[in-house]
Amino acid sequence: MKTSTIISAVHAIEAAIIAHEVDIESLDRAIGDGDHYINIKRACEVLAGMGTELAPLKPQEALQKIGTTLLSTMGGASGVLFASLFLGMAKFFKLNNDKANELNSNLEHAAAFAYGVQSLMMRGKSNVGEKTMLDVLVPASTTFTHAAAQGKTVTEICREVKNAADKGLEYTRDLVASKGRAASLGERAIGHLDPGAKSCQVMIHAVCDLLALKAQK
Ligand code: ADP
Ligand code: MG
Repeated sequence: MKTSTIISAVHAIEAAIIAHEVDIESLDRAIGDGDHYINIKRACEVLAGMGTELAPLKPQEALQKIGTTLLSTMGGASGVLFASLFLGMAKFFKLNNDKANELNSNLEHAAAFAYGVQSLMMRGKSNVGEKTMLDVLVPASTTFTHAAAQGKTVTEICREVKNAADKGLEYTRDLVASKGRAASLGERAIGHLDPGAKSCQVMIHAVCDLLALKAQK
């Protein structure tokens, strides 16, 4: 992966989040405080405006910069959590690949994503089954790792990861939340998808579609 791909992914995520404003906002209004969409949109705008600053950086430096920017600019519980995801990925690449200007194998990318998700879990003191973004991120990450280990193509991996994200999102519908604001609702949260899980599913689709398109060129 090149830094230019990371910048393209930021733009793809911004466009996808804006296209799903109504879904994301209404979910956080139903079982949160209604700010999740605006938190993400603001962060996307800031990151999308950093193209020239990010472009000369190595991929791991760009991920680190994105993480620290999220920490300082994105509000809500999700700001710190998304920051941990990016900082975790940056750390993985730093530990494993500091000299590289490009990051190569699918397995390496899957391992970096898994490390980022692990960092988010540690920061949120949370796990799957608690009606959070992790119900999408963890199965997406596990699927990514398995598919990469089986030597599948980028196109196949992207399709499987998107499916895993869709299933994880749907799984949140009937859960009671034990983390985040929805936890105070008890059984009243049942029947609603988790807003963070929805935004992650949207972001995963956007990045997978971008990568699958690039792989076909
Ligand atoms: P806030 O809850 O502070 O208003 P947001 O609305 O931006 O923050 O984000 C809410 C989302 O954050 C939830 O839908 C959930 O997916 C996620 N979330 C909240 N707490 C945790 C946690 N401890 N671990 C993982 N995800 C969490
Ligand atoms: Mg909120």
